[in-house]
Amino acid sequence: MSRQVSEPAPERLRAVLAQIASACRAAARNPDEVTLVVVSKTRSIDEIEELLQAGHRHFGENRVQEAQSKWPELKKKYPDCVLHLIGPLQTNKAREAVGLFDVIETVDRPKLARILAAEMKEQARTPLLYAQVNTGAEPQKTGVLPDDLPQFLQQISADYGLVVDGLMCIPPQEEEPALHFALLEKLARMQGLKVISCGMSADFEVAIAQGATQVRVGTAIFGPRTPI
Ligand SMILES: *Cc1c(COP(=O)(O)O)cnc(C)c1O
Repeated sequence: MSRQVSEPAPERLRAVLAQIASACRAAARNPDEVTLVVVSKTRSIDEIEELLQAGHRHFGENRVQEAQSKWPELKKKYPDCVLHLIGPLQTNKAREAVGLFDVIETVDRPKLARILAAEMKEQARTPLLYAQVNTGAEPQKTGVLPDDLPQFLQQISADYGLVVDGLMCIPPQEEEPALHFALLEKLARMQGLKVISCGMSADFEVAIAQGATQVRVGTAIFGPRTPI
């Protein structure tokens, strides 16, 4: 008989929330300042619903198509849930993304901003937008380069009337994440943006120490992902 060593997901959710609270206390921050986004990519509707039933409301998905297959049903049952897009967005998926997501965290180029603005007008929907920053300037990664951020934000506001509420980043795997989180915090402060989305299962406490207001956690709650 094989037995799961791990606790059920709602138990782990509570444990992660407790870790967030103690990381906040250690950083002399109010736990209310930090939102946990549970990353539900690759997880089934049933797995997700367990956490909705436990009262959790913020979730993140990285692919529009996968989210389409799960969330319309869940949103009908839990209309106050808040769905975040945390993966790269192709312009040909912008329409569906605006229709489904409440927060789009990966705005990273003027063309995408233009199409999002048009869709938001067309659908009369206003998801919150964050700009993704490529803090490690990695060529293979999406995101605005730190040096280009002021100009990018200025341009999408002037040309398309888009205002972002925050910044998100995914640090390079082989580097010290704290430096990237600190850079993101500094950029947000310089731009007067209130949301700082960074930190995952391995490093969300480090992110909170550096000023994150939103952490995105999957594995620590659901266990390891099996590739789909
Ligand atoms: C998958 C993913 C996460 C969560 O990663 P875990 O290590 O499972 O916590 C966070 N952010 C983004 C952008 C992701 O794609």
